[in-house]
Amino acid sequence: MDDGKPVWAPHPTDGFQLGVMVDIGADTLTIEPLSHRGKTFLAPISQVFPAEDDVNKHVEDNCSLMYLNEATLLNNIRVRYSKDLIYTFVANILIAVNPYYDIPKLYALEAIKSYRGRSLGTLPPHVYAIADKAYRDMKVLQMSQSIIVSGESGAGKTENTKFVLRYLTTSYGTGQDIDERIVEANPLLEAFGNAKTVRNNNSSRFGKFVEIHFSQKNEVVGGFVSHYLLEKSRICMQSKDERNYHIFYRLCAGVSEDLRSVLHLSSPDSFRHTKAGSLKDPLLDDLGDFKRMCGAMKKIGLDDTEKLNLFRVVAGVLHLGNIDFEETGSTSGGCVLTNQSNQTLQHCAELLGLDQEDLRVSLTTRVMLTTAGGAKGTVIKVPLKVEQANNARDALAKAVYSRLFDHVVTRVNQCFPFTASSNFIGVLDIAGFEYFEHNSFEQFCINYCNEKLQQFFNERILKEEQELYQKEGLGVNEVHYVDNQDCIDLIEAKLLGILDILDEENRLPQPSDQHFAEAIHSKHKDHFRLTVPRKSKLAIHRNIRDDEGFIVRHFAGAVCYETTQFVEKNNDALHMSLESLVCESKDKFVRNLFENNFSSKDSKQKAGKLSFISVGNKFKVEHAQ
Ligand code: ADP
Ligand code: MG
Repeated sequence: MDDGKPVWAPHPTDGFQLGVMVDIGADTLTIEPLSHRGKTFLAPISQVFPAEDDVNKHVEDNCSLMYLNEATLLNNIRVRYSKDLIYTFVANILIAVNPYYDIPKLYALEAIKSYRGRSLGTLPPHVYAIADKAYRDMKVLQMSQSIIVSGESGAGKTENTKFVLRYLTTSYGTGQDIDERIVEANPLLEAFGNAKTVRNNNSSRFGKFVEIHFSQKNEVVGGFVSHYLLEKSRICMQSKDERNYHIFYRLCAGVSEDLRSVLHLSSPDSFRHTKAGSLKDPLLDDLGDFKRMCGAMKKIGLDDTEKLNLFRVVAGVLHLGNIDFEETGSTSGGCVLTNQSNQTLQHCAELLGLDQEDLRVSLTTRVMLTTAGGAKGTVIKVPLKVEQANNARDALAKAVYSRLFDHVVTRVNQCFPFTASSNFIGVLDIAGFEYFEHNSFEQFCINYCNEKLQQFFNERILKEEQELYQKEGLGVNEVHYVDNQDCIDLIEAKLLGILDILDEENRLPQPSDQHFAEAIHSKHKDHFRLTVPRKSKLAIHRNIRDDEGFIVRHFAGAVCYETTQFVEKNNDALHMSLESLVCESKDKFVRNLFENNFSSKDSKQKAGKLSFISVGNKFKVEHAQ
């Protein structure tokens, strides 16, 4: 690098800048930037890289760069991006940059046709090339294949997943309904499981693994979607400038007048669950999206009754959110519904098929099993305080909505059934890594999941590949990478992991978010991956007290989690009287949503026990596979 040729040196905002080396020190180099001749600066040797001879030239595969390093790789992608070439290969891995606008013809039918059967690298990099490679490998190796899409929130994972599905069904389908249904299932899933966040107007708040199944003749025969935990807290609470799930707004915007009165709907700003969100985003077209969603429902074969079932429950959840409580003022310390809430209670009960008075009682009291005075098994009703009733109401909304989401996925799977499948191609699309100004339990779970995916990638691509090189005696220089096992252990290890510490907190008679934060810090003093907010370099984190948060150094960057509400959000339990109430709904559809739950007899036996169902643990179990 010291022969006067240009080098890439660190730049505070651009990542790297071009310069030439003018002096060499022990650990640093003196660099003169090409853009500011005469103004030299020092850079650590390890962060200066040789540049390509022509930095404006680009290559389709990063592996064909003369010098492959972090700077040349980024520059290559940048140069290509500026020419609308958003895809770049790194051998058989594809990098995609989100263009945030529709590049003409990039995904057209002609493009789909042109990639069919063509080896990787014979045509420009494209997500279609990856899809076709998966298909050809499946066919040749007679083995199922998976495409893993990874990237932070808003990177374009979900869009590219859809392009893969469309490519495979168009190229290798039989031209029957099934092909279209696999593609059209997405608008429905997204209506119920996606929401506007600060990062992405259509952010997936659940993970999914979509399998396209092929026959012995290697033709599409069906599909199957598995989903991973939906972010439930969003149903009752949204951060500033974010929204609830799309379906709530679309329903308010799009239903016919008749249905509007059946569902007692009005505008989203009259419902607690939707009014807090940012309603007026010029990029969101709730009415148009409603129509598109209905079109998709039709294409996948949902009839009007089924559609109405879905809408009725969504509306029921909206009304439930508007029920308010106030103190009774009596010595019992309980609460009652406010006057305005009585009508709402009626609407909610009607839509969910519940008895109005039973719902009222279940929201304001809790069934306990007393053992006092030897009279074992006496059931008593304990009045709830306003705050407890609020929590009960929100827990019910979350339970009903997430069951509804499970149902939507199950229903979608019935649209593309298959009897005989030889192999499948799976596409994994999860909620991407995210960090906001305020990060809570949801970000913690999502980022944990991304950490696991990164580990899989490290193992599969970096570790196993290098082991293969060694085995085959190839003299390739070792590629160093940061193993993130320590970060994963910090989160999921038995007893000492953050998730277990949280569960332990939840089981205490009086759990507290502060005590939880303190426990983490005391059990992980001097852990490389964990710090206290006060010690953070970022001023915004330093405002958070050490017992209010913790910082995890993830593979994709450090994130400060504020522990307020961690304990509450980690608990999925619905108190028993509410559970049995919905299980016994007069509405068959609602009852079926809760079908797999224990019967009300069991629930009565369980009444009174401390009920805690760990969300974090569910997340851990689901993402372990
Ligand atoms: P992720 O799933 O990674 O969070 P999305 O796939 O939802 O991100 O992408 C976010 C938004 O970016 C999309 O709603 C779309 O507007 C835009 N986008 C993503 N990929 C493309 C693409 N290839 N072409 C055009 N727009 C895109
Ligand atoms: Mg997504």
